[in-house]
Amino acid sequence: MVRVSVNGYGTIGKRVADAVRLQPDMELVGIAKAHPDYESLIAIKKGIRVYAPSSNAKAFEAAGVQLSGTVEEMLAESDIVVDATPDGVGATYRPIYESAKRRAVFQGGEEASVADVSFSALCNYEEAVGKRYIRVVSCNTTGMLRILCALKSLRRIRRARVYIVRRAAEQREVKKGPINALVPNPASVPSHHAPDVQTVMKGLDIVTMAVVAPTTLMHVHMMNVELDGNVETKDVLSSLLSSPRIAIAGEKTGIGSTADIIEAARDIGSMRNDVHEAVVFEGAVKAVGSEVFLMYGVHQESIVVPENIDAIRASLGLMGGADSVKLTNSRLGIKGGYLI
Ligand code: NAD
Repeated sequence: MVRVSVNGYGTIGKRVADAVRLQPDMELVGIAKAHPDYESLIAIKKGIRVYAPSSNAKAFEAAGVQLSGTVEEMLAESDIVVDATPDGVGATYRPIYESAKRRAVFQGGEEASVADVSFSALCNYEEAVGKRYIRVVSCNTTGMLRILCALKSLRRIRRARVYIVRRAAEQREVKKGPINALVPNPASVPSHHAPDVQTVMKGLDIVTMAVVAPTTLMHVHMMNVELDGNVETKDVLSSLLSSPRIAIAGEKTGIGSTADIIEAARDIGSMRNDVHEAVVFEGAVKAVGSEVFLMYGVHQESIVVPENIDAIRASLGLMGGADSVKLTNSRLGIKGGYLI
């Protein structure tokens, strides 16, 4: 059993911790948080050990949250740590992981230079095998890479242009906006997503543009890809259907918005309404000559969770990519194919 700890227990960290607990080859040592709040109390109720930076221990004590020790003590009991601290904080932890001689998986809010390799399980698992420091790319980049690596199985990609409509904030981020605006993010071209995709698909001709929209549910991408030769719409659909981490929102199901996708996840009984797949709107898939057009939704809170599990296995060389993706999918209930 691989001993895994999770440093940072917010949107991503709590989902990764739950996912680790579902894996047959992993054991969750515990989680670390900076501040005592309801999330740490819920973790303790679930039987998860809670750790904190030593400088914050008094605050936990004052709030009545029983700590199991410091972050360093958590690391000492772990083979690998998943860092899910806020953007940029992970980099400040890298020297601590190094001096503890522990492997680490970082998140997409860190610069690519924080790790030995940027990671997307279906694109470059093998490149990450044995690496001590792996960075799972951001939610938007993970969504794009899922689609691009599926399309790549049809023909070489000549160029990709992606227009991203980003959710403004998570549901619980009450102090973040915008409330009533569409905000170019950034108001320059390309957005940071294109170079992030290139950390995995090196040399790909890709341009991205992004706008923030007043929604919390999901991101939506509008993608236009030129392939090295003509394809039919049905070929594109079958490449998407055969990818294990893409779901198709069938045209006849009436799923025509991000609200429908999340409602379907609620009706299915998915934990926290999570949707780990990139969800492609079937009616919006079109091939014209060598060009492919499509639209899909990205559930920002959960799409990177299976990638983190696979990154742990890659770092420790536990199994090959296809086997890891299969195992992770079966444990997290990810099926691919039609969403319903
Ligand atoms: P979050 O703010 O929800 O959670 C951060 C957690 O880290 C909190 O539990 C906080 O207590 C803890 N923390 C803060 N400082 C700490 C410290 N010094 N030591 C230990 N713990 C500390 O953040 P998030 O949204 O889960 O994002 C985490 C990472 O995942 C970021 O790199 C982010 O870019 C990336 N990411 C986020 C999303 C998303 O949509 N939320 C999607 C993909 C990737």
